[in-house]
Amino acid sequence: MKSPFAKAWGCVGIMMIGVVLMMSSLAFLNNEALMYLFLFLGVAGIIAGVVLHYKTVRCPHCGSHLGRVYGPRCPFCGKDYKAKD
Ligand SMILES: [Zn+2]
Repeated sequence: MKSPFAKAWGCVGIMMIGVVLMMSSLAFLNNEALMYLFLFLGVAGIIAGVVLHYKTVRCPHCGSHLGRVYGPRCPFCGKDYKAKD
């Protein structure tokens, strides 16, 4: 099983791709269809990253969403993420 950190970075990566797509839409100011396509893809990517983060970045013991609090232990139940139980 992947650590919560690896999953969190994967989700941040998806959000970053969304941001980059959104910015690329500015390159198509003379083409409305393409501009809205990139804008939409970018927003969809950011939302997907946030939703995935909430769904997958959780403590393996108590299931709490870890948000941006990263450390060797869960801030909610105090257990080590790598511990078996
Ligand atoms: Zn926990």
